[in-house]
Amino acid sequence: MSLINDLDAAVAPRVRGGLPGPRSAELLARQERRESNARVYGRHLPIAVEAASGSYVRDVDGNVFIDFLTGAGVLSLGHNHPELVAAAAEQLGRFCHGLDLPSPAKDAFTEAQLSMLPTAMQGRTKVHFCGPTGANAVDAAIKLCKTATGRGDVIAFQGGFHGTTHLAMALTGLVANKSPIPNGVPGVHFFPFSHCADCPLGLSRNTCATNCAELLERALRDPNGGIPLPAAVIVEMVQGEGGVVPADPEFVQRLRRLTRDLDVPLVVDEVQTGCGRTGTWFAFEQYGIEPDVIVASKALSGIGQPVAIILYDERLDVWVPGAHTGTFRGNQVAFAAGAEAVRIFRRDGVLGNVRARAAQIAHRLDALRTHPWVRDIRGRGLMWGVELADPVDGRPAGVLAGRVQTRCLAEGLIVELGGRDDCVVRLLPPLNVAADVVDLACAILVDAVACCAPARPPEVGVRLR
Ligand code: PMP
Repeated sequence: MSLINDLDAAVAPRVRGGLPGPRSAELLARQERRESNARVYGRHLPIAVEAASGSYVRDVDGNVFIDFLTGAGVLSLGHNHPELVAAAAEQLGRFCHGLDLPSPAKDAFTEAQLSMLPTAMQGRTKVHFCGPTGANAVDAAIKLCKTATGRGDVIAFQGGFHGTTHLAMALTGLVANKSPIPNGVPGVHFFPFSHCADCPLGLSRNTCATNCAELLERALRDPNGGIPLPAAVIVEMVQGEGGVVPADPEFVQRLRRLTRDLDVPLVVDEVQTGCGRTGTWFAFEQYGIEPDVIVASKALSGIGQPVAIILYDERLDVWVPGAHTGTFRGNQVAFAAGAEAVRIFRRDGVLGNVRARAAQIAHRLDALRTHPWVRDIRGRGLMWGVELADPVDGRPAGVLAGRVQTRCLAEGLIVELGGRDDCVVRLLPPLNVAADVVDLACAILVDAVACCAPARPPEVGVRLR
């Protein structure tokens, strides 16, 4: 039986013995000796992967896991979807690398991407192919807005994540990543995001009048507000790495009104939320707005072949030839898979599955709502987070979240962490995930929280960390 058939037959995860298993431990040790200290995933998920299929991953020791990380939201149709593999393999033998020359594969991909936009946007949207990462596309988006407006400042939001290149990191909230690197990008201003479960302005539902939006409105309209009219406002509709925080609809609509009034391009970073993750092709569709620039990357090919684009209003099409180049902007294999992925989304009603499985996850995770260490459970589509906090002082319970992640892995479920101090346990399943796999995964997670959380809130002064 081939590795892949073997995995397809897996009905339940199976983990034998402690993790890492002996062969994984060997590869992790070799990695540690040779790779950068900045490597990250193997520190929390100590496995070496041998094969994968659909929602499952098998490590080199024969342990099988449900994968609810899926390459950080990249594998929208699961690992190695057979039709994407076939499309990619066919293209591989035909033509692989094309700079930004036109090709049938690229044309079909562009056509497919434009066809997924809201109808009103289709006729006036242009595409730029960027270097193949989300961060490169974020860079491109900001460069484009600076070129088009002739302005230099950018507004970003606390808790946001846009990548780890110099500019993308400068737009990202994570202070620890930026602190060791002097001379950050100037002109980036952070404003509070509508994180209603933990309001950055200390307001509650009773006292809130979307004051986070008001603060930005006043700052940008105030002649004494300190910030010149910016080149762009960049925002995620659901902060992913920031801990699965969906933006408040009123916040987003006010942001759109403000930026339109002031003629400031609104850049929506859909690197993580795009390509169906939240139940619509792009998350902004659920907010009744039309952005000026969309940044997309992760799941564009559906199979992990790297590709990144910005989609923008044609009035911003001001770049001169060569303004944002890059050698790897013509990944034909990604294009072939990406066009095929769009066909499969339509044929199989994948967005419907996202919504159905979302309702199922909401229902299954309800069991955790009353748990003393669970501060909030939130999600959109197949992007979910369980936020853990100390019941005594309300501080983020990152150590507990780490234990939950470890316990899930030991029981056969791969999950990610995010949010302040990594206190949010995150689920990013494949978008075509089956209902029984969701049930299994949620049961493992619910059980892991119950097992790992201290039985009673600790005494004041006794903290997990
Ligand atoms: N924007 C968002 C919203 C992301 O989630 C990420 C990656 N997690 C990025 C940008 C950066 O993408 P990449 O890692 O491909 O550079």
